[in-house]
Amino acid sequence: MKLKTFLPGDITGKKVLVRVDFNVPLDGAKVADTTRICAHLPTLRALKAAGAKVALISHLGRPKGKADPKYSLEPVGEELAKITGWDVRFVPECIGPDVQKASAEWGNEVLLLENVRFHPEEEKNDMEFAKKLAENFDIFVMDAFSAAHRAHSSTRAVAEILPSFAGLLIVKETEMLGAVRDDPKKPFVLILGGAKVSDKIAVVENMMKKVDTILIGGGMAFTFFKAKGLEIGKSLCETDKIEFASQMLDQAEKLGVRMLLPLDILAADEFKADSPYSLVAPEAIPSDKMGLDVGPETIKTFTDVITSSKTILWNGPMGVFEMPAFSKGTEAVAQALVKATEMGSFTVVGGGDSAAAIAQFGYEDKVSHVSTGGGASLEFFEGKILPGIEPYDVTE
Ligand code: AMP
Repeated sequence: MKLKTFLPGDITGKKVLVRVDFNVPLDGAKVADTTRICAHLPTLRALKAAGAKVALISHLGRPKGKADPKYSLEPVGEELAKITGWDVRFVPECIGPDVQKASAEWGNEVLLLENVRFHPEEEKNDMEFAKKLAENFDIFVMDAFSAAHRAHSSTRAVAEILPSFAGLLIVKETEMLGAVRDDPKKPFVLILGGAKVSDKIAVVENMMKKVDTILIGGGMAFTFFKAKGLEIGKSLCETDKIEFASQMLDQAEKLGVRMLLPLDILAADEFKADSPYSLVAPEAIPSDKMGLDVGPETIKTFTDVITSSKTILWNGPMGVFEMPAFSKGTEAVAQALVKATEMGSFTVVGGGDSAAAIAQFGYEDKVSHVSTGGGASLEFFEGKILPGIEPYDVTE
């Protein structure tokens, strides 16, 4: 996938509106995690270095189309200034006279506009609203990969008004994820986990044709066990997805794809960090217990597959990694990815919970790529063209 990005000549001296994803976790009025801010720094630095005037637009949380101080981006501006040393001016609106004034007075400072989701038109991809967003700017740069699966005014419609380019984060994400989706080196293993099968159905369907092996762990494994006729006690199960799981098992067999389910399970009495638990075989999950992690035999088998593959894509934890007693399967997969990376394999972690898990174990810099997009990376692997990326796709 080849994207149209900016060259210095496109932006020098121009007023550039950049769509970022500053939807960061807040602890009161403090930014609790700066990962999302830092992900945009290469784009922002490149724009500043080329002499562009930079204004940032983002959403934060779900204010439901109304101004709500709880979701103000002001603290994020303070954090950005702290991280970069830049002069950051917070503008308490994203359209109208406040923006016009800031634009008229614009010196060297970076402008951060208030939460675009304070306006109900944003999520409707409203063109009139996009025109108001574009009003005081010459160029639009889309850098918010994690919001690129949404066709909103600030992620899509505005690109139809201003000359527009993909930012460096989107270019990097599509290169990394695209290498896995479109041109994987073999053997290729897809590791899926997390709570729900339903979120990953379309990914399994699209990637099944490309992979050699699929490893399934986490809560979703139990719907597959059920499809094989096993009893799963109180473990998670999506009853309406059993048929799908069964079809996928059949299809994998037809296509010669190895589909491995956990070989042993940590079965707990309750969904609690300090719950008693025991190690059981999948065929022997007691009716009053729930599987919350995979066991050592699974860890060994999954690690062997991962470390003997050339391309590894991981999406979804192997267990309830937020609870230390049930985090070992997920940690072992993270370690196997680190080992595979050291051996020269290409390792990619989808966003969302898998990114949170790898960061929890401190390995985020030891794999080839950790995506910043949860929903966006899933839709990318479903084979969809993301509406926030489509305008820049110049692949021949
Ligand atoms: P997802 O957003 O679908 O990737 O799901 C991630 C969540 O799945 C995490 O919060 C995990 O705690 C949870 N999870 C993983 N394995 C299990 C399991 N065996 N039972 C219940 N929840 C699980």
